[in-house]
Amino acid sequence: MELQKVFCMNGGSGDLSYARNCTIQSVIVSLTKAVRVDAVVEFYSTFFPDNISIAELGCSSGPNALFSAFDMMEAVEQRCLQLRRSPPEFHLLLNDLPANDFNTIFRSLPEFYQQRRMIESSGGGQFFVSGVPGSFYGRLFPSRTLHFVHSSSSLHWLSQVPLEVQDKSKAPMNKGKIYLSKTSPTCVAEAYLMQFRRDFSLFLKCRAKEIVAGGHMVLTLMGRTRGSEPSSPEYSYMWELLGEALMDMASQGIIEEEKVDSFNAPYFSPSLEEVKQEIEREGSFSIRTLDLFEASWDAVHGSRQTKQEAAASGEITHAKRMAKGVRAVLESMLKTHFGEGIIMEELFSRYATLLEGYYSRNKAQVTNIVIALTRKFEEDNILRASVF
Ligand code: SAH
Repeated sequence: MELQKVFCMNGGSGDLSYARNCTIQSVIVSLTKAVRVDAVVEFYSTFFPDNISIAELGCSSGPNALFSAFDMMEAVEQRCLQLRRSPPEFHLLLNDLPANDFNTIFRSLPEFYQQRRMIESSGGGQFFVSGVPGSFYGRLFPSRTLHFVHSSSSLHWLSQVPLEVQDKSKAPMNKGKIYLSKTSPTCVAEAYLMQFRRDFSLFLKCRAKEIVAGGHMVLTLMGRTRGSEPSSPEYSYMWELLGEALMDMASQGIIEEEKVDSFNAPYFSPSLEEVKQEIEREGSFSIRTLDLFEASWDAVHGSRQTKQEAAASGEITHAKRMAKGVRAVLESMLKTHFGEGIIMEELFSRYATLLEGYYSRNKAQVTNIVIALTRKFEEDNILRASVF
């Protein structure tokens, strides 16, 4: 499967769209607001550029594509008021894979421009938007043109399933599973970690060329606590249960078991150590923040977890909401692998039932990593090279 050509969140703004189902990703964006605001205010207060270029990498087609930039512009404008300076112009560069539904975001722009016009008329900076389709595991922007890079809930997506794991000439390595699981052989776990390392270091190398010295980058991705296995249930339940739902369907002859065996997620949730090692090895960025945090479904919809509580409030359960969220993310990938015939309704209703069972015993949350980095000045690197 050529991931970059086929991977996209469900487009549009209908009931199954990413835009309507990015609940947990929105929680993550709001939980990390302070980190972004700190970084952008520090950047602005040090350099006072006339214009600030902000890249949003993996923007998708939902409301989060613009939210973070709005937070950051607002923070810089407040700082300008304090300093009695005129605000800079802002250029927002929206990036995602070419199959992303950029049109849905572009269609929502007039409304945002209108809001901005009001802000601009009371002293805010002018705001420009461009779309930049392409993979962030490659160069996207000219050298030293970005001041701020933001990416949320995107970097746990690998550039591909590790080649060793998708080798069709051999027997399936990860039989009956679609991601790292307790039963996955060690070589599968190693292959996933190596793929993450290659991808993340390439990401850093490319951004190191594109970000100006002193520029900042704030990233969030799914992660796991120090030293824990990627296959520990609290980090892999999303995949474990989806795999179980697919295997149930295979055992009833609804889909082919070989198809499940040959499907593996191009995903990896690293530990803080694994992330830190790559940042230090690559060497162009200094670390301001590197932390874990939990994003909980309760943050938006209270702690109503059981079917009865949800029904009484007229809402759906966390499990159903999660199943819809995962569907909005994975439907394109699943259809490409299993064919249009795979019965999505059936699969995701089984998945929601399994999640309901899981959430009755465990917290409805996901573990994330937030990383804030500053692009070092070349002199820092020269100094480092001469010292070591
Ligand atoms: N940042 C948004 C969307 C997160 S969903 C939010 O917080 O709501 C993850 C997004 O990353 C998807 O839109 C997916 O297409 C994009 N993505 C995954 N791999 C990518 C890559 N290599 N290059 C660019 N975008 C990528």
